[in-house]
Amino acid sequence: MSGSDQMRAMVLERAGQRLVSKRVHIPRPQAGQVLIRVLACGVCRTDLHILDGELTEPALPLIPGHEVVGEIAALGTDVLGLPIGTRVGVPWLGHTCGTCAFCQSAQENLCDLPLFTGYTINGGYAEYCIAHTDFVFPLPRGDPVSQAPLLCAGLIGYRSLTKAGTARRLGIYGFGAAAHILAQIARWQGRDIYAFTRDGDTQAQDFARALGAVWAGGSSAPSPVALDAALIFAPIGSLVPKALKDLRKGGIVVCGGIHMSDIPAFPYADLWQERQIVSVANLTRADGEAFFPLAEQAQVKTETTAYPLDRANQALDDVRTGHLQGAAVLLP
Ligand SMILES: [Zn+2]
Ligand SMILES: [Zn+2]
Repeated sequence: MSGSDQMRAMVLERAGQRLVSKRVHIPRPQAGQVLIRVLACGVCRTDLHILDGELTEPALPLIPGHEVVGEIAALGTDVLGLPIGTRVGVPWLGHTCGTCAFCQSAQENLCDLPLFTGYTINGGYAEYCIAHTDFVFPLPRGDPVSQAPLLCAGLIGYRSLTKAGTARRLGIYGFGAAAHILAQIARWQGRDIYAFTRDGDTQAQDFARALGAVWAGGSSAPSPVALDAALIFAPIGSLVPKALKDLRKGGIVVCGGIHMSDIPAFPYADLWQERQIVSVANLTRADGEAFFPLAEQAQVKTETTAYPLDRANQALDDVRTGHLQGAAVLLP
């Protein structure tokens, strides 16, 4: 924070528009908050849903970004235990009320009065951001670019995997940022991965096989085996009935995204035999406490493409078209 009290940020002024590069005031941490100097911020598909207006309640003008890796630069009053310079990550779940029925029953991901980083509070597409102290994760020192995708793609992928229970034959539909992290953990746990990509996307299929998938193919192809669980990360509703058909009796389809196109009608017979369809919403802090050590144990390596902060619009375009492998990460 030497000298200037201003920072560069990429700002969404209205849904449907491109982000605008701006100089804005560096925010001041209030009680219970910390100021974080951003080292890297991942670009998540959810950011596209916010930009496109599919998520309808952004706090405009908004600085997006909820895969923030940074270091503590200043403390609000009453903040203890996080020395200046501590490496931290800031996830999507920015704050919860702590008192609603969901918060009181270990389902804070469903809190009635939540705040979400880079959506209802400003996020990490900037040189600095504010976070609530109780909602940051201390991270080990290491390459912040490779850590950034863990903060959402990794966490949501992990939460999706927990919904699959002990499933051994695991289908993954949409092989992007979340899948490439999750696949490494699932392989390390001894599960078999069946990767379903866009039809004809042989590059993504090769990528999946390189990460240990036993099979990779187009998503319209029937699964070569009956799956125990199907995790869907592509925002395409028609994959839900398709994935149901790939399941064994009693299997589960887990929808990992925050937004999806409509799910077409399908015969009840495809759901019959105790197959299930569930969604995953947000994350809990307990997910992070379980996930980050697991990612270290499994020696997860993220594949990233780094962009300078002021090229955020290009990074978003590339996430939209799938013209990159792994995850996009912005560097301030
Ligand atoms: Zn709550
Ligand atoms: Zn995300």
